[in-house]
Amino acid sequence: MLFAIFIILIPITVWLILHLMSRRKSSVETTEPEDLLEICAVCQNEFLMSKLLEKEIGGYGRVYCFCGQCLENLYHEYQNKNKTDTEMGE
Ligand SMILES: [Zn+2]
Repeated sequence: MLFAIFIILIPITVWLILHLMSRRKSSVETTEPEDLLEICAVCQNEFLMSKLLEKEIGGYGRVYCFCGQCLENLYHEYQNKNKTDTEMGE
């Protein structure tokens, strides 16, 4: 009888320990990226991960981060370039 209880209790305790460990690990993973600082690939300033846009560039799976200000600048630069190109073409 004692042996039967022992057999049942061991998997339950192991499962409980694993469950607690995985829960602690996942909670760390969810809170970490918010506080993580990353450098913008264009202006080289540090920003919070939540404020940056991550993009995989090229075929090597390299990920670059871009801040909102740089993306806006690039957008305007592209718009101006397109405008001058079409003006020159006409
Ligand atoms: Zn930037």
